[in-house]
Amino acid sequence: MLGPIYLGLGSNLGDRNGYISEAIAMLNAHEFIEVGAVSEMIETVPEGPLKQPFFLNAACEVSSFLSPQELLLATQEIEVHLGRTRKGTYDPRTIDIDILLMGDLLVSDDDLVVPHPMMHTRSFVLKPLLDIAAQVKHPLFQKTIQEIYNEYQRFST
Ligand code: AMP
Repeated sequence: MLGPIYLGLGSNLGDRNGYISEAIAMLNAHEFIEVGAVSEMIETVPEGPLKQPFFLNAACEVSSFLSPQELLLATQEIEVHLGRTRKGTYDPRTIDIDILLMGDLLVSDDDLVVPHPMMHTRSFVLKPLLDIAAQVKHPLFQKTIQEIYNEYQRFST
């Protein structure tokens, strides 16, 4: 089994708390996924060009024997089940589940890149992740999430 896997979750439509809670419950209900630590849910300002409602974001730790592609499929099935319709990158959504880290594994398939290529530039990913993975190392940058977040803050003010 891989080292701890971290997922990022976000919702900005309808019962945001309910969608995130339900997504985590569905992940845990999967035969080959076990959810560990779950972060606080935090409210974040939407990034990107569209004016849209605030998000709730969270992160969770999972362990799994699934391959990266199988895990991606499992998260996408949950997104579809919870009413996510795929439009643009920055559109409002009932639920978005991103694979952030899978231990030290590096993936660069056409449809899946791990570590998530934008995670270090997004406070809505880093903040919840800090809650549960502050000392976890990003395998490309060889820096902890805490260090990456500190740098993000220095450069974003
Ligand atoms: P999003 O709008 O964030 O849900 O983007 C979903 C698309 O990003 C999907 O088509 C995925 O194939 C792709 N993708 C690439 N890397 C990742 C990742 N680490 N986690 C989730 N989706 C990813």
